[in-house]
Amino acid sequence: MRSLAKSNQHFRRANQKLPLGVSSNFRYWGDEGTIYVKRGKGARVWDIDDNEYIDYRLAYGPIILGYGDSRVDEAARNGMEVGGVFALSTELEYDVACRISKMVPAAELVRFSNSGTEAVMAALRIARSFTGKDGHVVMEGGYHGIFSEVMWYSEVEDWEPGDGAPDVLPYGEGVPAVTKRLFHPVPLNDANALEDLMKQKRDKIGAFLIEPIMGNCCAISARAQYMNDVREICDRYDVLLIVDEVKTGFRVAKGGVQELFGIKADLCTFAKAIANGYPMSVVAGREDIMRHVGDGVVHGGTFTGHSVSLAAAAKTLEILDETTALADIESYGLKLQAGLGHILNKRGVVHSFTGHPALMGLFFAEQAPSNYREWVHSNYEFYDTLAPELHEQGILVEPDSREPWFLCESHNVGCLGETLDKFERAVDITLAKLEEKGSAAGSTK
Ligand code: PLP
Repeated sequence: MRSLAKSNQHFRRANQKLPLGVSSNFRYWGDEGTIYVKRGKGARVWDIDDNEYIDYRLAYGPIILGYGDSRVDEAARNGMEVGGVFALSTELEYDVACRISKMVPAAELVRFSNSGTEAVMAALRIARSFTGKDGHVVMEGGYHGIFSEVMWYSEVEDWEPGDGAPDVLPYGEGVPAVTKRLFHPVPLNDANALEDLMKQKRDKIGAFLIEPIMGNCCAISARAQYMNDVREICDRYDVLLIVDEVKTGFRVAKGGVQELFGIKADLCTFAKAIANGYPMSVVAGREDIMRHVGDGVVHGGTFTGHSVSLAAAAKTLEILDETTALADIESYGLKLQAGLGHILNKRGVVHSFTGHPALMGLFFAEQAPSNYREWVHSNYEFYDTLAPELHEQGILVEPDSREPWFLCESHNVGCLGETLDKFERAVDITLAKLEEKGSAAGSTK
C-alpha cells in the first residue's frame, strides 16, 4: 500500500487556511486521499510522500510536452528577462498570434487572456455584440469554465429516455438564477434537437458553443455529419459557431479539433496546451467578428500578454508546429489503447475508447456513447473502483470517469510497459473487489 502520511498531515494543516486544503475544488480527493505534489518531470509526478506516478491527468491538459520541459523553461526564463507585465504591449504578442493563425486558419485575429474561463467568457461576449442576441447553446455534459453563464448542467443520472429533456441545474451555489435563461443545452449528435431549438428561439440565441471532443465528458465525440449540420444550422439562424478548443487545441492536431473535423469556427478558444503549463489563453476568430473587440466590446486584464507565458507559448507552439511531437503522442496513445484493450479483452471486460489518442476516454460499454445521456449506461462502477487501484499502483488518472486520459510527448516506451503492467494488476484487483461485492464485471449499469 502506498503511504500518504505526509499528504494527510499536510492536508490537515492546509485545510486550516484554504477551503478543502486546495486551490481548486477538483483537487480535493477526500481528507485521506488528497495528494500534494513535490515535483513533476516529463510524464511523471512525485508526491510529498515520495510516491512516484506516471501521470495521465497532466494538469487536465496543459502539459503537452512534459513537466519541466527544458526547451520551454529556457524560453520562459528569457521571457522573465523582459520584465513580466507593463500595462503596455510587447512585440512577442504579434509573433505568437501569427503562429496561431498559421496553425489554425479560423484564428484570423487573436487576443490573449490567462485562463480558459476568460477566453470563453470573451468569446460569448463578442458573439453577443456581433449578433445582438444574448443566449447560447451548449452540449449536455459540456464544461466551459467557472463563470456563471456556463455554470449549469443537465442532470442525467436519474433521467430516463421518455422523461423529456433532463433538468438543468446550477453547478453549485452562488450561480445567479438569471443566467439560466441564457443557457440552452442540447444533446450532442442530434441535429434535429438543435434545429427545433433554433426554430423556437432564433431571436434569443447568438452563439453555439461546442467542444466537438468533449474533454470533460469521457471524450465523447461529435460525428462529422453533426458538425457539418451544426455549421449549416448556425449560418441559417445567424448564430456564431464557437469551438471551445481549451482542451483539444494544440493537442489533437496542429490545427486542433477544427483540423480533425475539417470545420472552421467563427470564434474559437484555446488555453491549456498552448504554453505547456504556463498560464495563457486565447480567443480568436474571423476578422469581422473579432474587430468588435475595441469597437464596442471590452477585452483586457492586468496579466494578459505576460512576457513569461508568451515566451513559453512561442516555444511550445514552435515545437508542436515544427516537430513530430503530436504524431509521436498519437502513436503512443494508439499503442496504449491496444495494450489496455488486450488486458481487458483477456478478462472479458467490455469496453471502448472515445475521443482521440492524445485525449482519450476509457469507457466500460461495448459502444462508445454518442452523447451525455448515453454515458449513464456505462459501467462507471468499474471505473470508479479501478481508478483508486491505479493510483495505488502509481498510475495517475482522474477518479471521475468523465475526465479523459491525457498524453504528452514525454510518455515513452518505458512508460508504456510500466503502465500496462500496473494496469493489469489494478484490473485484477478491481475484478476481485467487484466479485466480492457481487457486481458483474463488464456489465452495464
Ligand atoms: N473550456 C473547456 C473545454 C475546459 O475544459 C475548461 C477547463 O477545463 C475551460 C474552458 C476553463 O478553463 P480554465 O480552467 O483554464 O478556466
